Parts: sequence; C-alpha cells; structure tokens
Amino acid sequence: MKALQYRTVGAEPEVVDVPDPEPGPGQLLLKVTAAGVCHSDIAVMSWPAEQLPFPLPLTLGHEGVGTVAALGPGATGFEVGDAVAVYGPWGCGSCHMCAQGKENYCLRAAELGIRPPGLGAPGAIAEYLLVDNPRHLVPLGVLDPVRAAPLTDAGLTPYHAIKISLPKLLPGSTAVVIGTGGLGHVAIQLLRAMTAARVVALDLTEEKLALARAVGAHETVLSGASAAASVRELTNGRGAEVVLDFVGAPPTTTAAGAMAAVEGDVTIVGLGGGTLPVGFGALPYEASVTSPYWGTRAELIEVLDLARAGSVDVHVETYTMDEAPRAYQRLHDGLVNGRAVILP
Ligand code: NAD
Ligand code: ZN
Ligand code: ZN
Repeated sequence: MKALQYRTVGAEPEVVDVPDPEPGPGQLLLKVTAAGVCHSDIAVMSWPAEQLPFPLPLTLGHEGVGTVAALGPGATGFEVGDAVAVYGPWGCGSCHMCAQGKENYCLRAAELGIRPPGLGAPGAIAEYLLVDNPRHLVPLGVLDPVRAAPLTDAGLTPYHAIKISLPKLLPGSTAVVIGTGGLGHVAIQLLRAMTAARVVALDLTEEKLALARAVGAHETVLSGASAAASVRELTNGRGAEVVLDFVGAPPTTTAAGAMAAVEGDVTIVGLGGGTLPVGFGALPYEASVTSPYWGTRAELIEVLDLARAGSVDVHVETYTMDEAPRAYQRLHDGLVNGRAVILP
C-alpha cells in the first residue's frame, strides 16, 4: 500500500510503498477514508535525531477516519464496513488515568512503548491503518468523513482545553484564540457553541482573520506587539477571562499573559517552545497557566455529537496521497486555511 513516511531526520516526508498490514489478535484494520495534517508533525520533523522519541521511518497521520476492513482474531465490537473515527492518544487502557478515559494522560504508555498512530506507531496517512483495540474507535454515523477526520485532534484538543475553563466563560466574559489555523478555527466554533463568551481571534494575516470571522469570531486582531493592548481596550481594561494559545511561541505566550484578566486562565496548546513565568507581578492576580495534551475518549464522542448537531464544521482543503508532501509544505509555510486533509 501507499503511505506517507517521515524517513530521514530533517528531510521532507515521502510517499512510499509498504507492505499491507494484517490485523493481529484483538486488532482491527481500517481502510483509511481521510487523514488530517497537524502542525505537531511539523514540530516533530524539526526535532534533532537525539530528541526524536521513536525510530524512523514513521508513517505520519494522527487524525484518521476510515471503514473497518478486517478484524483480527478475537476482535469484537465492530463489523466490516463500519465508519469510524480513531481516538489517537492510545494508552494502556487500565491505569488510573486510562480507567477514566484519559488515555491522553496514560501513566504507563511510555514504559510500555505505547505510542499514538502517526506519532510513533504507523499512522493514518496510508491506505490502511492498524488499530490496536476497538476501544480506540468511535462510530462516525452520518458525519462526512473528510470533515470529521480533523475532529479527532483539531476538534478534540481545543474542546478539552475549553472544557477546563467553562466555569469562567460566563456571559460578558471574553475568550481569546491565538492562532486561527486547524485547531484555532475549530476552537472559535466550539466557544460559540459551548459558551456565551465574546470571542476575540488573533492571527498574522487578514486572510486567516477572515476565516476566523466566518466561523464566528466577534472580533479579530492582527497578532503582534500591540495585540495585548488591543485586547485590553476591547475589554475596557479588564483583559480576557480565557486565553487559548494555539501557537505557544515566546511572543504569543508573553502576549497571552499580558492580555489575561485577574483570575483568568491562560492555556498553552501550541508547541512553539514559549513558556510563562508565574509568581507575584509576573501575571495578573490568581491567573492560572496550563498546557493540556489532546483529550479524552468521552470528549471525542462529545465533539462528534456537536458536529452531528451542526455546531462545528471543519474548513478543509483536500489532497490526494501523491499531493500529501505539498500539503505539509503549505502547512509549514502558513498557507493552509482551516485544515489540510489527505484522501489516501
Ligand atoms: P496551524 O498551522 O494550522 O495553525 C497555526 C496558526 O497560528 C496559523 O493560522 C498561523 O498563521 C498562526 N500563527 C503563527 N504564528 C502566530 C503568531 N505569532 N500570532 C498569531 N498567530 C500565529 O497549526 P495547528 O495544526 O492548528 O496546530 C496549532 C499548534 O497546536 C501547533 O503548535 C501544534 O503542534 C499544537 N498542537 C498541540 C496539541 C496538544 O495536544 N497540545 C494538539 C494538536 C496540535
Ligand atoms: Zn495533532
Ligand atoms: Zn494507562
């Protein structure tokens, strides 16, 4: 089968032929319908060899949907032909976090060598994907698979981040979304669907801000040195109760801290290497800073329910497998509007 692989540290990903996978005991084989392209892969491909936590080659793609093509011996719960979304942050299934459905925070995954598809295990940008356990699958139902694929990360990750701060997102509150790309443009829609907060979106270009407005942002601000002052002005000096940073680079984390309200939440989702100091004088009183990773299986079910209700709709650009390297190049260059999705 064809697969998109990251093969050499620092090189572009390549479309290659690899053997068709066969499901072992308890596993399921999916025929992949669609797979999203996440900026985290760009981060992974920028790491030096000694920082890479898994061996190469790696088949990319951690946002996958497909139909069940075969069940390995003893696998149950699904039938051939079922349309499913893949819950990507695989864990051991039985530790204290996994027992709560929080496999994203599995306590034993590292020790057991369990890695998400596309982030250590073979990923979804391939004709077929092996899934280790039926609990990693959620039925898609009537959802369009192409627009549903990014919900498994670009939907789930902001959904989880927003849920942390729901008690603060009361009427009259302000939520800022920094970076309105794959995750950010879904975050805006989730904020509108789940809260009464006023949503302020920040990005680098007018084109990105136009998408932010189209998906529901009340206000948009060009990101830069004066962005924090603009948010203070929009909030009569109060600042934002919640700042969601989908860039996470030093200039955006600094701006995020500077635009937060007293008792505000600053949530750093982006992997841009930025950090925020805490302690008296560093941030507004009682501001909280957190950096969440992905989301729970239950939350993926909730996100798909929101999509079925029409509350969230991913803006997609589609690519064939042969065009997949170009999708990564465009994402790297900041040119993707919404989410790039590969149709293998
Ligand atoms: P993306 O490239 O689709 O979107 C990023 C957006 O940020 C783009 O629109 C870009 O123009 C904008 N941007 C870049 N620099 C900016 C700045 N200084 N100010 C304002 N906007 C700026 O990326 P994505 O796939 O949505 O991922 C976003 C980030 O989240 C990445 O760092 C990714 O690695 C990370 N991520 C984290 C998790 C997690 O679980 N924590 C999950 C998925 C992705
Ligand atoms: Zn991702
Ligand atoms: Zn676990």
